[in-house]
Amino acid sequence: MFRNFKTVPYIIFGRGCFGQLDGILSERRSLSGSFMVFLVDSCFSDRDLKERIPLKPGDLQLWVEVEEEPTTGYVDRLTEQVRAFSDKLPAGVIGIGGGSALDLAKAVSLMLTNPGSSALYQGWDLVKNPGVYHVGVPTLSGTGAEISRTTVLCGPEKKLGINSDYAVFDQIVLDPELLAGAPPDQRFYTGMDCYIHCVESLTGSYLNPFSRSYGEKAISLCREVFLDPGPESDDNLMMASYLGGMSIACSQVGVCHALSYGLSFVLGVHHGIGNCLIFDHLEEYYPEGVAEFRIMMAKNGVELPRDIVPSAGDGEIRKMADVAFVLDPLWENALGPDWKEKMSPGRIRELYLRVLR
Ligand code: NAD
Ligand code: ZN
Repeated sequence: MFRNFKTVPYIIFGRGCFGQLDGILSERRSLSGSFMVFLVDSCFSDRDLKERIPLKPGDLQLWVEVEEEPTTGYVDRLTEQVRAFSDKLPAGVIGIGGGSALDLAKAVSLMLTNPGSSALYQGWDLVKNPGVYHVGVPTLSGTGAEISRTTVLCGPEKKLGINSDYAVFDQIVLDPELLAGAPPDQRFYTGMDCYIHCVESLTGSYLNPFSRSYGEKAISLCREVFLDPGPESDDNLMMASYLGGMSIACSQVGVCHALSYGLSFVLGVHHGIGNCLIFDHLEEYYPEGVAEFRIMMAKNGVELPRDIVPSAGDGEIRKMADVAFVLDPLWENALGPDWKEKMSPGRIRELYLRVLR
């Protein structure tokens, strides 16, 4: 069965294109006569971008906190805040920030039109009603959240996306100028998310010409950005993130992402950093990718913050392995259809021990 996947219908790209957001939204405002909700990463609360957000009287702007990765509880609280603000549905939800803020915007858009807690929808195709019109404006690049059909949430029982065609943004605004000011280490970790998406897609058993075409271009842009940077590095990184997201849309990620999900669910380690900490130990699975990743780290003067991972007890490692082991498609992509002969919860625990001790 081939996947029939949806992509973002409207994309604007270019330095300064954020200035066109006002015009884009005004069409929606006149269509619905309602207000807009802006969910903006709180790191911009004291930055110039704050003055450029096209807020109109009657709009709602919420600064979102992303110190913790998005949780179902936080999505539910934000949704309640929007409901309490007006009896009407908003004309749109606009997320401005890194992957976390983008995922929050997707999730709130969906939860405004679907009953119950967002935790009920973690999984595949569980969302029944289309969400509110939603727009993504990335200010960090690498996750591919701007193009994906998922919003990754930590819930009461699992870290798992709400995977739905309705999650896909209606519009994205790709303005490379918005990446300026991202802390270099954070830019690197999030950029490596894209690099690792490409390595996992390009070496996986699900690879096909569609994914390869996007993945090869994305990985070559990552190489330019992190090995031979130039004045267009932010433009290239933004395109790499988009293309890497397109590559995995039609294939899958692999070992690093499976382990990273467990690590972040149990110990709260952020996705980008968690991926890097794990990938560094995966030579056995991705020898060329890991070698190049280390060159990129050295070239960019990045030292992995190994001390941010709290020490984990046996119970926690067991839980992480349980979270990782059930991600069947990731393992199948990485190791082939007979992956259960090659990977077990015990083997996964051994891999975690390499990272954690
Ligand atoms: P992030 O959004 O968590 O942000 C990391 C840090 O960078 C935060 O402190 C944030 O405030 C700051 N930041 C963002 N933009 C900035 C800027 N321009 N200048 C200064 N600081 C800035 O980081 P991320 O790596 O982009 O996203 C990670 C999240 O994305 C995780 O929650 C992960 O689960 C999710 N994710 C989603 C998908 C998807 O397809 N939906 C894919 C991969 C990861
Ligand atoms: Zn990722």
